[in-house]
Amino acid sequence: MKTEILEAKYGIEKGARLITSGELVVFPTETVYGLGADAFNEEAVKNIFVAKGRPQDNPLIVHISSVEQVKEIARDIPDSFYRVAERFMPGPISVVLKKGDKIPYAVTAGGDTVAVRMPSNEIARKLIALSKPLAAPSANKSKHISPTTAKHVYDDLNGEVALIIDGGACNVGIESTVLDLTTDIPTVLRPGAVTVEMLSEVLGEVEEKGKVIKIAKSPGMKYTHYAPKVHTVVAVSVASAIAEYDKCVKNGGKPVLVYRGIYGDDLGDRNVIDLGRTPEDYARSIYSALRDAEEKYDEIIIEELHGKGMEFSVMNRVYKSAGNKLV
Ligand code: AMP
Ligand code: MG
Repeated sequence: MKTEILEAKYGIEKGARLITSGELVVFPTETVYGLGADAFNEEAVKNIFVAKGRPQDNPLIVHISSVEQVKEIARDIPDSFYRVAERFMPGPISVVLKKGDKIPYAVTAGGDTVAVRMPSNEIARKLIALSKPLAAPSANKSKHISPTTAKHVYDDLNGEVALIIDGGACNVGIESTVLDLTTDIPTVLRPGAVTVEMLSEVLGEVEEKGKVIKIAKSPGMKYTHYAPKVHTVVAVSVASAIAEYDKCVKNGGKPVLVYRGIYGDDLGDRNVIDLGRTPEDYARSIYSALRDAEEKYDEIIIEELHGKGMEFSVMNRVYKSAGNKLV
């Protein structure tokens, strides 16, 4: 299959036609690029798993273009959903609800719950409005780093998908927060740009699962994700980052430090990738940095952030990319 990349002004209508005829289309969102299929078409949804090499037991998020549309996807929708929607939708949050009858089990990996999200990216919402709600995971090969540009997607899925709609670099840069509203206490299954602190303001009590998130209900979280092709570690301090770097060089390796631009001159002429100053910059740039780094270097050393909110969310991905290896 030939993979075409089109800008939004040419890609949206063509994408909508492809979706309606059961094909897969890659579209931009504010978090990462998504690999979409008509969420009501079981065959099309199954092809997502084939294209990505994704395990069957890892459910997909259904993307909608208006809050109203949730009624086609889920049933027994609690008031808390509408409170969350009013504050954070459209935006980088997926909410787990009871699955509606029209959604095939291929989407939910056999489960009775479904994750629903309304992206703030207008290209995504137009595509959905012109076609169908889209079941979509991130548009990378399973286990690889999530894509935040059309080129990242092409590098992973060339030949697997008919169309990639290019909407430029993703603004948030890490996947959506996943909030489960089917449990007694609202539970964050995956931290993201809508932080636990922000959700607590709306929901009162939100249970946070801690740094290493183990969630039976969110099957995807048990898989290795975001893994660069080369050895990757998290450095808990500048000193340990430098020690690890110098050890790698001594052994004949070519390492790189991926950091937030605050170590300053301490780093001398070592190879660095600067992610910017704020945790939001860090999130926006981290996946691009890891994709770049795995091509050019043979060890990646990433600066650890210690804060709450977005720092906590981005570190959730970084620990996974390093297989929890700390130095
Ligand atoms: P991806 O978009 O590739 O990050 O994959 C979607 C992720 O959303 C999965 O790996 C799960 O962590 C989460 N997810 C999707 N559907 C559900 C669900 N019904 N219950 C819990 N988590 C879900
Ligand atoms: Mg993914």
